[in-house]
Amino acid sequence: MAGLSLQNLQKTYGEVEVIKGVNLEIEHGEFVVFVGPSGCGKSTLLRMIAGLEDITGGQLSIGGQVVNTVQPRDRGVAMVFQSYALYPHMSVYDNVGFGLRIKKTPRDERDAKIREAARILQMEHLLDRKPAQLSGGQRQRVAIGRAIVREPEVFLFDEPLSNLDASLRMDMRMEISKLHQDLGATMIYVTHDQVEAMTLADKIVVLNAGVVQQVGSPLDLYHHPANLFVAGFIGSPKMNFIEVTVSEIGAGTVTVAGPDISAISVPVATAGLEIGSPLTLGTRAHHLLPAEQGAITGTVILVEHLGNETIVNMRLASGKAVVVGLGGDFRVAVGDTLHLAPDIEKVVLFDAKGSALPR
Ligand code: ADP
Ligand code: MG
Repeated sequence: MAGLSLQNLQKTYGEVEVIKGVNLEIEHGEFVVFVGPSGCGKSTLLRMIAGLEDITGGQLSIGGQVVNTVQPRDRGVAMVFQSYALYPHMSVYDNVGFGLRIKKTPRDERDAKIREAARILQMEHLLDRKPAQLSGGQRQRVAIGRAIVREPEVFLFDEPLSNLDASLRMDMRMEISKLHQDLGATMIYVTHDQVEAMTLADKIVVLNAGVVQQVGSPLDLYHHPANLFVAGFIGSPKMNFIEVTVSEIGAGTVTVAGPDISAISVPVATAGLEIGSPLTLGTRAHHLLPAEQGAITGTVILVEHLGNETIVNMRLASGKAVVVGLGGDFRVAVGDTLHLAPDIEKVVLFDAKGSALPR
């Protein structure tokens, strides 16, 4: 097994800079997820690690060795793609063992590895089938099996579950988590789905336009987003953003107010703030609590009764909509007026550049 070190990694296609100097340390055995919107460079970065894309600048090390120009097959990595890329005319057994046959691994050893992978993935009963006789989830399992038999130091997954339906995706997520526990290998997993990132990762790397926005544990990113991008990307429903200005500065607290919110004091580092500084106040749907004297008042425009919770869309004075997460039995109807108080401990303030103010 091996850790990875990415130092100022860059990738350009002609004039276009796609990966703009990524620095990242990945520990041996860690499960790291690259997450970000479509086109932000996740696959490109993963393919650079795999050796499928040339590295334009910077340095990539795997297990302490610089591998910038090392051939893909000599990097100790195995990649699983979104499209399963199975050979249709071969059985599952032969698909899983194909790489080993190319490497001229002796038959007995090959057989043992294929059967062990099949056991881990619970597909021993499928070994004689052709890919056409498998479901999407089973095909993806074969593709993962093909990676397992190579005994890589590092597994690379590029949106492996995107072609599966929602419930199967949840099952496969658990299987991949379990695989990580069983094998103890380093895994790097790319997805545009923040829920997938939150459920799988030890460490999430949020990318936007080829730049790392933040690296942290799922709860780090949820509770302490570094900027507006991360705050808006991680968490569901999306964080609410309300425009405010600074009305008072105290010792370690700032009082803010705006068209949609009456004055509230938030404990933050006040360096650089002035009376009148424009800020954005971020509060999550589930951190807005009903309160008679709440700082936020609005009109209910949509109610979703989900049983375990009630999601309410509310229009504020400026016309802006916010989302509120209330108890499953909370009685509310379209047209009602609601008064809400944001949980001050969980409010995040962002400066005009979009950076979160430290607490
Ligand atoms: P993601 O996986 O996050 O959706 P990609 O890594 O596939 O994003 O792509 C990142 C950006 O690089 C996109 O804007 C894409 O158009 C561009 N790109 C990818 N491959 C090439 C290529 N071979 N030539 C030029 N641009 C490319
Ligand atoms: Mg991609």
